[in-house]
Amino acid sequence: MKHIDEAKINSLLKIKATKKDINSILKKTMHLKKLTIEESAKLLSVTDLVLIKKIYNMAAYVKNAIYGKRIVIFTPLYISNICSNNCIYCGFAVNNKLTIRKQLTIPEIKKQTKILLKKGHKRILMVSGEINFSKKNIDYYIDAIKAIYSVNYKENRIERVNVNLAPMSINNFKKLKKAHIGTYQIFQETYHEKTYRKFHIAGTKTDPNNRLNAIDNAFKAGIDDVGIGFLLGLYDHRFEILAMLMHIEYLEKTYGLGPHTISIPRIEPAPGSAYASNPRYPITDSEFKKLVAILRLSVPYTGIIMSTRETANLRDILVNLGVSQMSAESKVTPGGYEENSIHNTKLERQFSINDHRSLDEVVQSLILQKFIPSFCTACYHKNRTGKYFMNLAKPGKIKHLCNINALITLKAYLDNFARHKTKIMGYKLIKKYKSEFYTHDLNMLKTLFKNNKIKDKYI
Ligand code: SAM
Ligand code: SF4
Repeated sequence: MKHIDEAKINSLLKIKATKKDINSILKKTMHLKKLTIEESAKLLSVTDLVLIKKIYNMAAYVKNAIYGKRIVIFTPLYISNICSNNCIYCGFAVNNKLTIRKQLTIPEIKKQTKILLKKGHKRILMVSGEINFSKKNIDYYIDAIKAIYSVNYKENRIERVNVNLAPMSINNFKKLKKAHIGTYQIFQETYHEKTYRKFHIAGTKTDPNNRLNAIDNAFKAGIDDVGIGFLLGLYDHRFEILAMLMHIEYLEKTYGLGPHTISIPRIEPAPGSAYASNPRYPITDSEFKKLVAILRLSVPYTGIIMSTRETANLRDILVNLGVSQMSAESKVTPGGYEENSIHNTKLERQFSINDHRSLDEVVQSLILQKFIPSFCTACYHKNRTGKYFMNLAKPGKIKHLCNINALITLKAYLDNFARHKTKIMGYKLIKKYKSEFYTHDLNMLKTLFKNNKIKDKYI
């Protein structure tokens, strides 16, 4: 696979770090410095529980130092489960004859969006199976994005549509950019070439380099917020993380910019897939927590997304280990947000989800842990994307914006959508943080943006 030196990764995986090595790496991370791949490999070799605890504490520190107390909230919107590929872990694979195929019409997409707006959502991740790529299909995606942006519920609108779609040409990426997408997201699934070829046996997804190229094409088309990741369960997770860091190194060297976000979805049972229920490389919760924390330290300024594939209990822990964005109340099938939808049965889902809490319950549990659930989309609206965003994130300045905008958008959520108990808890948190850091953050911002209208809707 392009950019991935498997022999080098395999030799790095043999490293056994000393306690001294780990302490000196953790000292470096205190200064919010990105780690080298060798240093990440050393962290992966740690088994001593005291050192693992130190890694956890440092991951929490780094997350807070870069992003502050906010956790960004979003939800996926599946528009089609029609797919021409045969990924043997996925419920939408073309060979799965059990799934009823459904491509939402534009009025149906608007209806789903309205349901999400009524709950208080502002950010959507639009997801689709890989419909054979023709001119007509890019037009469908563009119309779908426009439809999502066009709907309102009272004052509430979707303000950022991120997309998770198959690779496409630079020209088509330009069309997505013109339609005002936020992040373009695509997961490599596995960076191990032999494994990749084993799991992707039909359609355009059989070519691993075509998939890697998607990020290059997106950058070349001017999309500067991209999301990458891999699917846990296909191969050794320690290999995958080092390979993904190699991919990031290539992107930073070539474009001066790495990914905006990283996702590490764990394989879940999926209809029609025997492998998904019994993966050869399962990862335990302890290994998963360590992986998230090491990722946070390896690329301190890149967002880490956690989906509802994980349980409520584990997600509540992971926000303390470096996660910065999470989905809430997700349905992973087209039409799934409609109550009693036949498309939301076990057979129709792409995979099983394990956190079934409502958006309000997720908000409550974040508030309980003193995090600020954030519905902010300000960076996207103020063109703080790509390198501009990273220039603020790398030195830990973005948190001054994030903290204030998170509080402003949380207040709007509480005023308009929250249940009584959530309102009481949320207003109390806002009061606490207003006295603790609001003025400090505002002063920091005044020096950062001398000419900015600080009294904007968001900053
Ligand atoms: N079809 C597009 C693609 O494959 O890139 C985009 C959408 S696909 C629905 C989104 C992601 O779901 C995939 O990239 C894969 O990592 C993940 N996925 C597929 N099957 C899964 C399973 N059984 N458990 C967890 N995640 C899965
Ligand atoms: Fe299709 Fe994506 Fe599922 Fe593969 S992972 S079968 S490309 S929807």
